[in-house]
Amino acid sequence: MQRQASNLLKNFVLLRLNKTIGNEVLLRIFKGKIILMSFVSFLLLCIMATAQASEEQKQDVFCSEELPLIIVGSGLAGHAAAADAYRALSQLRNKAPARGSIVVLEKEDSFGGNSMKATSGINGALSEFQTEQKIEDSLEDFKECVFETKINPKDVMYSYTDKHGEKANELVTVLTESSGDAVNWLRHEFGLEMTSISQCGGHSHPRTHRPPSGPAGTMIVKAVHSRLQDLVDFRYKCEVKELLIDDETKTVIGVKYLDKSNADKPETKILRGGAVILASGGYANDHTSDSLLNRYSLMHENELPTTNGPFATGDGVKMASKIGANLIDMSAIQIHPTGFIDPKKPNERTKFLAPEALRGCGGILINNNGLRFVDELDLRSKVVDKEREQQKKSAISSNERSNEPFRILLNEEAANKFGPNLGFYIKMG
Ligand SMILES: Cc1cc2nc3c(=O)[nH]c(=O)nc-3n(C[C@H](O)[C@H](O)[C@H](O)COP(=O)(O)OP(=O)(O)OC[C@H]3O[C@@H](n4cnc5c(N)ncnc54)[C@H](O)[C@@H]3O)c2cc1C
Repeated sequence: MQRQASNLLKNFVLLRLNKTIGNEVLLRIFKGKIILMSFVSFLLLCIMATAQASEEQKQDVFCSEELPLIIVGSGLAGHAAAADAYRALSQLRNKAPARGSIVVLEKEDSFGGNSMKATSGINGALSEFQTEQKIEDSLEDFKECVFETKINPKDVMYSYTDKHGEKANELVTVLTESSGDAVNWLRHEFGLEMTSISQCGGHSHPRTHRPPSGPAGTMIVKAVHSRLQDLVDFRYKCEVKELLIDDETKTVIGVKYLDKSNADKPETKILRGGAVILASGGYANDHTSDSLLNRYSLMHENELPTTNGPFATGDGVKMASKIGANLIDMSAIQIHPTGFIDPKKPNERTKFLAPEALRGCGGILINNNGLRFVDELDLRSKVVDKEREQQKKSAISSNERSNEPFRILLNEEAANKFGPNLGFYIKMG
């Protein structure tokens, strides 16, 4: 079916799609010595890297030369935290910190987490790249786009449960006002030229940046990692299980972790630290016995396939809540409208994402009758609603439950705009 259609539509690329769930949002910085970072978007991650903690906070966190700063997780949040901590430590101590001053514990056998999978890019308003390409944008417009998602509960990506909305505003302000600088930081610190800029779903202007030569996430994480690998102590196959608390001061003083580097003899170890940063990602693939996904799904999101890796089990959220951390927005689980269905394994629970940028570059969605049925750049929730409407309609006409796939079509111009990485997705179709 696919191949026939692509022959018919020369110059078009045809891909099979379905819905998947995205990542959950959670961001909290505690006043004590634990910092919990788990982010929904690259933007926020990079902003955290560039955001300047107050001098008082820095002194507090980095007070000891003997104890390391411990970072749990080696996705972009972990890397961004390590990069910023290294810079701050160098300034505070007036010398390059020893390699063991910052330890990153990662439960997988390599770095990157879900961050390596991100393709569409990082949102930034008023970046140098936008200015150079004469794209007119404004912080107000970006804020409005974010707030529009905020009033649509199925799209919520930032805190809306806060009593007076103050925290929500704070986060949106950081997200939007620092977004251009975050993109510029990638250019100036890591030489990443984010010159492909698309207008993706829910945005009023082209502001999703990626390097033209490859997937945004992989390129960003690899660039940051290659800068840090000799400066920071990355330890793989080290799964953090528990945060250790000082009974008197009630502050976090380290972690207990399982060192799985010797597969035959995993070993439980303790690491004391001056501070612990949780950057252990989301829980969109949490099908464990104490699944956060099951607990917080309001609209059966837990039944949908996901594009997240098996490591996305919300470990940091669980560990932090065990020691009394407040959780916010746990039910704000976003459904991404498009993921690839492998015709050989249609029921597979983990799928490849058909990234937003495919639509952002001009790809259109069509139903089984070859008809377009939605504004592809609308909010993700609205695209999903339209897909469900389509499926309901064809269920009525075929008198059975419909799970019809959709297709995305790109003409030559859109395909060229997406760039060489499209080859990877064509293979998927
Ligand atoms: C397919 C896909 C495409 C995406 N595309 C985009 C995009 O284009 N733009 C965008 O802004 N966002 C995108 N996202 C979302 C974005 O990738 C995530 O929001 C972001 O990567 C989260 O970064 P993180 O560092 O918090 O988590 P991750 O990158 O997932 O890193 C968390 C790390 O912590 C490790 N870990 C977990 N538990 C433990 C533990 N107990 N002990 C030790 N280590 C642990 C994990 O193994 C993992 O390596 C996409 C997500 C997916 C899945």
